Amino acid sequence: MADPRPQPLLGTGDRGLRIHDLVKAPANTPWAKTKQQSWDASEPATVYTTPEVQEDGTPCSAVTVILRTKGCHWWWSSGCTFCGYFNDTRDDVTSEDLHAQWAAAKKKFDNFSEQAMVKVYTSGSLLEDREIPVDFQETVLRDCHELGKELIVESRCEQLTEAKLAWATGINPSFTVAIGLEAYDDEVLRFHVNKGFSTAAWDRAVVNLQRAGLRIKTYLMFKPPFMSEADALDHCVTWIEAVAERSDEISVNPMNIQRGTIIDRLHRHNEYRPPWLWSLVEMIQRAHAVIHPKGGINGDEDQVSRLIVHPTAGGKIRGSHNCGACDAEVVAAIERYAVSGSLLEFEGLDCSCRTVWKTEVMLERHLPVPLGISKPRRGRVVDALRSP
Ligand code: SF4
Ligand SMILES: [Zn+2]
Repeated sequence: MADPRPQPLLGTGDRGLRIHDLVKAPANTPWAKTKQQSWDASEPATVYTTPEVQEDGTPCSAVTVILRTKGCHWWWSSGCTFCGYFNDTRDDVTSEDLHAQWAAAKKKFDNFSEQAMVKVYTSGSLLEDREIPVDFQETVLRDCHELGKELIVESRCEQLTEAKLAWATGINPSFTVAIGLEAYDDEVLRFHVNKGFSTAAWDRAVVNLQRAGLRIKTYLMFKPPFMSEADALDHCVTWIEAVAERSDEISVNPMNIQRGTIIDRLHRHNEYRPPWLWSLVEMIQRAHAVIHPKGGINGDEDQVSRLIVHPTAGGKIRGSHNCGACDAEVVAAIERYAVSGSLLEFEGLDCSCRTVWKTEVMLERHLPVPLGISKPRRGRVVDALRSP
């Protein structure tokens, strides 16, 4: 029989679920375990090239090497609410495997002869000894230095100590460290992202990186879980302001839904819509004054940082999207801005769905709906209305 008591507004008094338990549950399911064991540990997860811009603004080709690793130590003990990297890892990868993967990547692109930049991503932190054997860290640092390539690695904050950076710069004196900060806001880091470090940890890491003479790339997350579209837009501009002076590059990652994550669960329940592309356009237009205080473009003297936005899965239901008709054009303009830094890329861009987006954001600013009201585009509205 159904519980006759009405649902109380403030919960039943039972202990709430811990976000940690929600994060961990899918990683231990049989499908996740089977998938992990299916990977070949001697092959990199993927290796591909993309157009990039070098430190001095010169266009170049960059190779991205995504290695098959044991994953991230924060994931082993808890994990971020949107991180689906556990899908791509194996817990028995050895230094020998990693060296084989690295050799395969170099072979595929002829020792990176055509690429000026090498990005090495490990689904975690390259400089974390529990995840990546030290001799392999050394191989990557040394090889890229000897080959004369601009190297970008990813790391959480706690690895970036003075001692570790002194060791790393002894092998490769000039590389970039990309940190997944996600939000410059302790409340968001704790309750929306479950990041496991605070803004103070990022502040400390940045001081150490600056002292070591290394470049800093900061990833910010556009629209973490449990946040409305309007809040995401306003917060992201504030975070860009907070980190711009201390970041050589800011890469804003609009949320895309990865399998088996909390955000995946919210999305399936129709409780989360990935960001509108229009929000990204407005975010860029508002943040441009921070990046270029005198209204310049990339490469101009007034450049404080470089703002990059790549809408992963842009135009798809699980990535940032608009109505479907204008998505490709808006994604292309956002991608062009990442290279040029010019607001002219958005000139003349419009669609009837812009009014829908504008109204949603306006309503979210006036109604007491912390999680927002926007719904993802799932098929045609007319078809939904016609269905029985
Ligand atoms: S720190 Fe990075 S790799 Fe680790 S769980 Fe969070 S998002 Fe995933
Ligand atoms: Zn549209």
